[in-house]
Amino acid sequence: MSAVQALKAARDAGIDLTVDGDALVLAAAKVPPPAVLDLLACHKAGIVALLRPTNDGWSGEDWLAFFDERAGIAEFDGGLPRASAEARAFDCCVAEWLNRNPVRASAGYCHGCGGSEHAHDKLLPFGTEQTGHAWLHSRCWSAWHASRKAEAVAALSTFGICMRTSP
Ligand SMILES: [Zn+2]
Repeated sequence: MSAVQALKAARDAGIDLTVDGDALVLAAAKVPPPAVLDLLACHKAGIVALLRPTNDGWSGEDWLAFFDERAGIAEFDGGLPRASAEARAFDCCVAEWLNRNPVRASAGYCHGCGGSEHAHDKLLPFGTEQTGHAWLHSRCWSAWHASRKAEAVAALSTFGICMRTSP
C-alpha cells in the first residue's frame, strides 16, 4: 500500500483531507473506519507530501495526474505498450518539471562552472523565452543539464513518479 492508495482509501471512506503546515487535517461527516485511520497514520508523511503544493505550484497529486494523463494518451491514443507509455510520460514529467522550475542566472557567468566569458569560450543561452535563459559554456552544458535532470528525477520520485525500466 502506497501513500497514493492510502489517500484514495480515505477519500473512498468519505474523508476530506487538507494540509496545514506539516499536519494532515481530516474532515468527515461520520466517524471513519479505524482501518482507514491506521492507514492514514502510517502514510501521513507521504500523504502530506502529495497534497502540499510545491514551489512550482503543483502538488504531488497534480504531478501524478499529469503523469497518468500523459501515460494514458501514449497508451490509448499512441498505441504504445504500458511500459513504453509510462517511460514517455516520465520524460514528459521531467520536461515539465524543468519548465516549472527554471534557473534564472545572471548573464556574464557560466551556470555550470561559474566561470566568466572569454573571447575563445563564449557563453551561450540555454532555455526558452518562457522560462528564461541559463548562460553556459558549450562544454559545460551536458554536465549542467544532467544535474538539472537529476534534480527533476529526485523531485518527482518523492511523489512516487519513477522511471520504470522495461523488463
Ligand atoms: Zn562553464
